[in-house]
Amino acid sequence: MKILLENALVLKDAFSQPKRAKVLIENGKISKLDDFVEEVVDERYDLSGKLIIPGLINAHTHAAMTLMRGIAEDMYLHDWLFKRIFPIEDRLNPEDVYYGTMLSQMEMARKGIVGYVDMYFHCDAVARAALDFGMKALVTRGLTDVNGLEAGKLKLQQNIDYFQRWHGKEGLILVGFGPHAPYSCSTAYIDHIAKTAYELGATVTIHLYESKQENYSLKELLKTKLSECKVIFAHCVHINKQDMKLLSSENFFVAHNPTSNLKLANGIAPIQRMLKENIRVCLGTDGAASNNTLDIWHEMRLATLLQKKDNPINMKVEEALAMATINGAKASGLTTGTIEIGGDADLVVLDIEKPWYLPQQYLKSHLVHSVNSLDVFATMVKGRWVYFDNNFPTIKESQIRSKFEGVIKKLIDTKN
Ligand SMILES: [Zn+2]
Repeated sequence: MKILLENALVLKDAFSQPKRAKVLIENGKISKLDDFVEEVVDERYDLSGKLIIPGLINAHTHAAMTLMRGIAEDMYLHDWLFKRIFPIEDRLNPEDVYYGTMLSQMEMARKGIVGYVDMYFHCDAVARAALDFGMKALVTRGLTDVNGLEAGKLKLQQNIDYFQRWHGKEGLILVGFGPHAPYSCSTAYIDHIAKTAYELGATVTIHLYESKQENYSLKELLKTKLSECKVIFAHCVHINKQDMKLLSSENFFVAHNPTSNLKLANGIAPIQRMLKENIRVCLGTDGAASNNTLDIWHEMRLATLLQKKDNPINMKVEEALAMATINGAKASGLTTGTIEIGGDADLVVLDIEKPWYLPQQYLKSHLVHSVNSLDVFATMVKGRWVYFDNNFPTIKESQIRSKFEGVIKKLIDTKN
């Protein structure tokens, strides 16, 4: 299968400049780039007036939480989680999670996201939804041992089973491990999880220092096997200087979720100081119940503006674009985060024939500061369009919507 994209501008990575180039895709991978002659192809797209950029990565989310979007507003993290979210999550079955995840993927693909890092449960349903949609996902099972270490180990076994069933499936799915947070996992449990992940070569993701009430020691945590794992630490809002030094490792990434952090009154993560410590930062939306949109463009701009509040040289356009693309790609292991020969064709096509993309000499600035996520014209994952000009070619949109609404009706009907 050969697909040719022509007449578009192409931004190959966060640090280069857009230029006119053709892109040839063969069997899901980019096989030719720039200027070449290719007469016989299966599909040819004239993308005049469009810009092609690497696909965005959502490095921290709980995809199925679209089921709880808007359900718990104006609350602090603790009450939000324990009084509103957990009681609903207790009632979710795999089919509910499947349709919540599907809706989330529709939103993400519509906004140029090609892959996401998920922490949830009923992970067979999450992985199945990603595969059915054709989107990339690093799937992790949220793990806690609040009901005792043995109960925690049963959850860990589920995570191992998910790994064996899904890891590497069709080049779209990776499975990692998701210890929820140091306040919901004992250190012994985290060590146990980390040893398992390390042996399997799997990535770990964990919430860290999200709210200022969280009281534990990262130094102690890193005395476990976690220190040798590849880890995505989500949030890191309330992190001190010493702890920042501990995160400055090439195995570690921080997933910054600025909207969720503000909405739950957790504050602003010190991203600029992290960048100075050479910490690798990527961007996440968190779940739709605490954001409420799954829009990495929005996170890019908000992250940038929050860091600029003290000094305008903080967070340059390239840094923001790198967080949304290549850093998320490296953290998740899902893609290259670039447009390059040999890489998976994971890309976004933006309609830039809009007043807010002029003057075109400064397109990269516009991608952070004046973009509208709905300007995404098409999103391709591994050479397949998952969103194209108001359509989702891999799914039946109306069926997903009505199933989703059925789940919502059931959740609300059984609430009282
Ligand atoms: Zn989270």
